[in-house]
Amino acid sequence: MTENPFFTASTLAYELPPFAEIRPAHYLPAFERGMAEQLAEIAAITADPAPATVENTLVALECSGALLRRVRGVFDNHSSADTTPEVDRIDAEISPRLAAHRDAIHLDAALFARVEELHSRRAELDLDPESLRLLERRYTAFVRAGARLGAEQQARLRGINAELATAASEFRQNVSADSQARALVLDSAEQLAGLSPDAIAAAAENGRALGREGTYVLSLKNFSNQTELASLTDRSVRERLLTASLGRAAGTNGPLAIRMSALRAERARLLGYDTHAAYVVADETAGTVEAVDALLARLVPPAVANARREAAELAKVAAADGVEEIAAHDWAYYSEQVRQSSYQVDAAALRPYFELERVLRDGVFFAANLAYGVSFTERPDLVGYHPDVRVFEVFDADGSALGLFLGDFHARASKRGGAWMDELVTQSELLGQRPVVYNNLNIAKPAPGEPALLSWDEVRTLFHEFGHALHGLFSDVRFPYFAGTAVPRDFVEFPSQVNEMWMVWPEVLANYARHHATGEPLPAELVGRIEAAESFGQGFRTVEYLAAALLDWAWHTLPEGQEVADAEEFEAAALAKAGLAVAAVPPRYRTTYFGHIFAGGYSAGYYAYIWSEVLDADTVEWFKDGGRSVRESGEVFRRELLARGDSRDALDPARGGVGRPPPPPPRGARRGLLSRAPRPGGGGRAAGPAWIRVERRPGLSGLRARRRPECPGGRAGAGSGRGRPGRRSAARPRPGPRTAAP
Ligand SMILES: [Zn+2]
Repeated sequence: MTENPFFTASTLAYELPPFAEIRPAHYLPAFERGMAEQLAEIAAITADPAPATVENTLVALECSGALLRRVRGVFDNHSSADTTPEVDRIDAEISPRLAAHRDAIHLDAALFARVEELHSRRAELDLDPESLRLLERRYTAFVRAGARLGAEQQARLRGINAELATAASEFRQNVSADSQARALVLDSAEQLAGLSPDAIAAAAENGRALGREGTYVLSLKNFSNQTELASLTDRSVRERLLTASLGRAAGTNGPLAIRMSALRAERARLLGYDTHAAYVVADETAGTVEAVDALLARLVPPAVANARREAAELAKVAAADGVEEIAAHDWAYYSEQVRQSSYQVDAAALRPYFELERVLRDGVFFAANLAYGVSFTERPDLVGYHPDVRVFEVFDADGSALGLFLGDFHARASKRGGAWMDELVTQSELLGQRPVVYNNLNIAKPAPGEPALLSWDEVRTLFHEFGHALHGLFSDVRFPYFAGTAVPRDFVEFPSQVNEMWMVWPEVLANYARHHATGEPLPAELVGRIEAAESFGQGFRTVEYLAAALLDWAWHTLPEGQEVADAEEFEAAALAKAGLAVAAVPPRYRTTYFGHIFAGGYSAGYYAYIWSEVLDADTVEWFKDGGRSVRESGEVFRRELLARGDSRDALDPARGGVGRPPPPPPRGARRGLLSRAPRPGGGGRAAGPAWIRVERRPGLSGLRARRRPECPGGRAGAGSGRGRPGRRSAARPRPGPRTAAP
């Protein structure tokens, strides 16, 4: 084997990992050396005879672990976006060892003693705001990880964390294997009636790829309600497809979910919390279990009522087909019929207006240019981790280089489902690093030479994930600990959901929504109908989302010692209790394939999507009606929110540093649920969303000039925020993404 490419910092532009040289065999040696190096660096911190200072302790900690961060960034993505059995085996082996490594740092008594001592003197240290926040947040992270527990409790904690890490890896691999095993195999093209010719050809190609020439294979998407259900005319095929989807990993992951929730409850008790949910939300903007309970409880009745109204509409159309009762596998199909008959919106007829390349360049990039002045240049000379990956260099309004954006848009068998954003290199002034971020989507790959035509939902996903990408790209912090999307889980969806607004922003829409063959713009009158048709489906969408959020909540509000005998029964009882047992609307994820919460970072955090919408609904109005140009608003939004990462409390300006965020305003406007009420505290439209502090300073700039890296001993430029032992690792149990689509 040649020299391990992880052992030294990349010499490529922006420290892009040298993908052309990286082999799976490099991972384990790099992980092992990376962990050993970081432990040695920490031993040097604790052996320093000088009194603890922020520089010799916390900044040194920020500088540590460079090699580990390099390998983790690449490996996390590889295991999600292009995995192999070999990579899966490495994942299973390394997951518990990384958990043990994080514990070795957090439970290092000498290290914590220095942090604690500094924390106790923080008022007299005269620190700049970001350094003070680093001290406070690091201290909190140590305490939350168990630094103050006794030796016996710490030993138990290490055992729990290792077992949870192994279980999460197993859970994920079970979902992936069973999703493939349960792909629906059909013998004739007639059974696929209703699908587009492209989709039928793709299913045939799927069959060939699986060695089943002559069959048609529908592979399963992440979530319950498979996209083909909207078009398949054969009711029995729809039923088979949904049954396959809903039953995924039922045998293996039910017991795993029970075990994992019990371990999390035990860990929460050790750390002084009643439940895992209480432990999680204590460090989120929601703050308390009650706040989340209240939001969910308030949304359920109108959402269910809305879904029932939609069901009545569907029943009218379905009666013509002799369908007496709308079943779960009928819902999407008849929704599509209603959209066509009542709103004259035909989803298939829209696709030609949403060609991937055009949506990306003339929509997503165009909007970023409009609001923030940034521009994009493709860099085919830079090699991605897969031939499908596109690399773009991002330039600021003044022409200076900002970072790299990697787009990996297409589905493939080796990629897990869903859509997500993450980083390969994290921005940090301390380390002298600029961001390298990527988006992963699962858009069906067209036949060679054919355009990739997107659905309305896929267009939204593209804008959404790019909102996360901008959060990473615009990061302008000193410490990697705070960079980009390292914000509370229930805040991280805020920028991405805000970015969705550009999708229908008139100037943007007119620029990208053009027929791929004729160039003809999407008829303006159609746009209004699409939006009306969209709001028709909100009852279903909100109920399926809330059902998943409540399942997450039910699993993680279990107190320690409360036995669960059977996952399926537990699930049914939880939904019934919450008033969400709507037979025709299954949860967006059932327990046994709910990777967000059992194999990702969203345990007791799936509520975050709707929580973030509470914030983002106001922001759209703020952009529209703030009395500023779009470019001026974009600059404020970037400077005050996107650039700050977690270097400032997410809701700090709103609450003046005390108390909790204001009670969520009824936000159902976008989901067509509730009428809009004035925001608490008045505010008026010029005041803008609660988080924002509009500084009326002249000019548009105000971002800090970049300084030289400051880490000692030539380590500068060799690290990133990725593998830090603190908040991010905890908030990002491997191998899930930092941010994922709901
Ligand atoms: Zn997201």
